Amino acid sequence: MLDIQGINVFYGAIQALNDVTINVQSGEIVAIIGSNGAGKSTLLRTISGLLRPRTGSITFKGRDLTDCPAHDIVKMGISHSPEGRRIFTNMSVHENLQLGAFIRKDADVDKDMEAVLDRFPRLRERFKQNSGTMSGGEQQMLAIGRALMSRPQILLLDEPSLGLAPNLVTEIFNIVLDLNKEGCTILIVEQNANRALEIAHRAYVLETGSVVLSDTGKALLANPKVKEAYLGG
Ligand code: ATP
Repeated sequence: MLDIQGINVFYGAIQALNDVTINVQSGEIVAIIGSNGAGKSTLLRTISGLLRPRTGSITFKGRDLTDCPAHDIVKMGISHSPEGRRIFTNMSVHENLQLGAFIRKDADVDKDMEAVLDRFPRLRERFKQNSGTMSGGEQQMLAIGRALMSRPQILLLDEPSLGLAPNLVTEIFNIVLDLNKEGCTILIVEQNANRALEIAHRAYVLETGSVVLSDTGKALLANPKVKEAYLGG
């Protein structure tokens, strides 16, 4: 479904991704784990067209994304819930969700908004609230809800559990599992490697911009090197 072949991505003179090759099949949950600065967010930003690879290619369902503007990439079915959530903090929950559907012209936007509010009852309670005044967990739910409003075929999730209390982390991961069961393919970037590997069909380990390991989530959970470096020994 999503095929990333040998991409090299730079910020000026700094190389953030080095010959990265990753693929995601339809229906999968694929996790990217790695330490701070490994290049995880850069990878997602490159897929969604916010950064361009200097070399290498990205194709989605056989279509080359390399020169596609970001809004066309959303239209093709790729939606990004960014790190730090990046919700519009001066707008209400309602307005944020509406903006998530900005590329759509069909009549089902209201129906989908209801579905998001059913999935995240807390967002229904806070519907008119200024989103900047919500808690971290609520803002994370809003970021995912907003990403769902474009009806993605693949959802790119950047650190959805960052800074959340353990019970909320469990809730977020359960929602990711539910979305996947309902047919949404997921590419998730996480520092919480344990949780991410538990739910991932497959995963890649990124170190200083390069893929150093890839396997099933289960195999990586049992891998001594991964245990030592990412799972607390
Ligand atoms: P974290 O989990 O800490 O967010 P990450 O794995 O997502 O880390 P990236 O944010 O992708 O890592 O950063 C990869 C590398 O690129 C880092 O060395 C970072 O300092 C560098 N980098 C990221 N954004 C920029 C930028 N706008 N300008 C220059 N360098 C950047």
